[in-house]
Amino acid sequence: MREGGKTSFSRKIKRELYRAEPRDKCCVRSRFKGLILLGASEISKSGIKLKSDNPDVIGSFVETARRLGIEAEVRQSGDQNGKYKAEIRDSVRVAQLLYDLKMLGDDGEVLRRSGDIKKLCCKREFLKGAFLGAGAVSDPYKNYALEIPAPDEALCGDIVSLFKDFDFPMQLTPRKKKYVAYVKNSEVIEDILAFLGACGSQMELINIKIEKEIRNDVNRNANGETSNLSRTINASVEQIKAIHKIRDTVGLDSLPDDLREIARLRLEHKDLSLSELGKRLNPPLTKSGVNHRLKKIMNCVK
Ligand SMILES: [Zn+2]
Repeated sequence: MREGGKTSFSRKIKRELYRAEPRDKCCVRSRFKGLILLGASEISKSGIKLKSDNPDVIGSFVETARRLGIEAEVRQSGDQNGKYKAEIRDSVRVAQLLYDLKMLGDDGEVLRRSGDIKKLCCKREFLKGAFLGAGAVSDPYKNYALEIPAPDEALCGDIVSLFKDFDFPMQLTPRKKKYVAYVKNSEVIEDILAFLGACGSQMELINIKIEKEIRNDVNRNANGETSNLSRTINASVEQIKAIHKIRDTVGLDSLPDDLREIARLRLEHKDLSLSELGKRLNPPLTKSGVNHRLKKIMNCVK
């Protein structure tokens, strides 16, 4: 899947990854290695080239290289594969860098594998680099898929097995001339985003899921009463987001009894209007009474 427009979900994730720079030198190397192995269009002893239309990917390449002591040149390119082209051409330093990254074989050939990464911090950074270089997550409004295409099966297998080291189940499949490591389970994708440090994107994915779930519930129960539907849904989405936030931070038990009761009911019946929710309380409550309590809950998270 291509990274669509400026606001594509993959772009947001990459922005988050780019902004969270690795700390230790070992991790800087690993991130760079993941980034070039998956993202570079050329790796040789005389130079490394990377093309992308995503400035965060280019930025990540340039800044990580700089932290490793090498300057990259960036140019606009007329190429279809990427608006920007970044290149490292200092052949003495490139050879040294590839050696440091354990990417040179006995005969001086370039090794295109992750190699044996020992520390967990470095494994994670390698995967962050790999995602920056080639990863994508589909638009969650359409479907759920996270994937990292690799140029060959062995490198793709490295990615699958690195994710496995953190208990993330990934599949591998050939596609066109590449191999793709992928996962389609939305919960696994959420966990991977958090693991990669893209927590804002993780939250966004969770919220979109809730919204879709509510819309499905409502559509199933609608029976033609569509007039107030979208208002009910939008209000319900906001209420449920607030309730989830409380549940996942301080816990619903921290709420006073009357608020906890309505919070639980809202979670159970995502599609009901306020007056319908009120009828299910014991004793029943008016629409404005329910509204009052839900407002209090929303205020808790503001
Ligand atoms: Zn490390």
